[in-house]
Amino acid sequence: MHPAHAYSIIFVALTTACSVALAQNVKITPLGSHAGELCSRDRATIFEDPTGVRILYDAGQSVLGADDPRLGRIDVVILSHAHGDHLGDMKMKALDAGACDNPQVVSAAPNSTTAEIAAAKNSAIIMVVPLANFVGRKIETIRGKPTAACGSPDAEVAVPSTAPCLATVQTGGTRVVRASGASKAVEVTTVPAAHDSTVPVALLSEAERKELEPDNVSLTLGPPSGYVIHFTNGLTAYLSGDTGIHADMQTVVHDFYKANLMELNFGQSALTPEAAAYVANTLVQPASVIINHVNEGATSGGKLRPTSRTAAFIALVKGRPVYPALSGKTMEFDGAGKCAAGC
Ligand SMILES: [Zn+2]
Ligand SMILES: [Zn+2]
Repeated sequence: MHPAHAYSIIFVALTTACSVALAQNVKITPLGSHAGELCSRDRATIFEDPTGVRILYDAGQSVLGADDPRLGRIDVVILSHAHGDHLGDMKMKALDAGACDNPQVVSAAPNSTTAEIAAAKNSAIIMVVPLANFVGRKIETIRGKPTAACGSPDAEVAVPSTAPCLATVQTGGTRVVRASGASKAVEVTTVPAAHDSTVPVALLSEAERKELEPDNVSLTLGPPSGYVIHFTNGLTAYLSGDTGIHADMQTVVHDFYKANLMELNFGQSALTPEAAAYVANTLVQPASVIINHVNEGATSGGKLRPTSRTAAFIALVKGRPVYPALSGKTMEFDGAGKCAAGC
């Protein structure tokens, strides 16, 4: 064989191997209020499996609602708990509106960004039962027809779907999501979180609001959750939800699920920098950490502000990289939880 010919065959073989390897990464894209930054209200994250399954985690307030051009197809919507900054009682007035530490939002009542997006995108809702039922009713109001179950409780959820549907779970429950024609499926599991799940009154009916008002009590929509998502390339992502430090992070998330990537919510009412670092270093021990829900303008020009709480946390994490969830910046992770591109 002519040497040049042999080289070209090797070249083709190498480039094919590379493109296959690239295709095996999970793409993770935070959708925050300000492009390229990690800002105070940022919550939403999109996960895209190599088979094409696209999951929106905690739509929240840093999106425009169903019309947000950054969303694309959304096969599955997951939601950790009913708080307004996650369910999305408000939404961005416009992308980049206001300041990073004080984005400009408008009401998303009565429907919420979560319900608006799921209704428009025909998404499967994987949430604990009371939360799913609440969101399902909002979707019903938007569409003018009931929101059905995504098949029987033990059936796989087939995506893309032609209508939104409810794939309910209890804490610890798993739903299996398969893209049309894919040989492997994504597994989405709820895990415990130490927090609450009270719903904003702005999203309740007038009658319900009147009922609660005299005693200044709140309505709880089931337990709060984190999620563990096992992707088809082997990546096992733990999404903490809002939570304080708790022992299940080690026994359930690390010991049993062996999560190799963690997206940690770092609200100051629940975690100190020291506790958050203990979660990363000792309890969960993932290969990589994404830090989100920081309740501060943590970056400026895409760089961490050195005096931020987020920077204080990152300085305490040892032996693993921490990536700020920069809005619109897609990170790619391999099956071992290592960032392969975009970090
Ligand atoms: Zn919360
Ligand atoms: Zn929150």
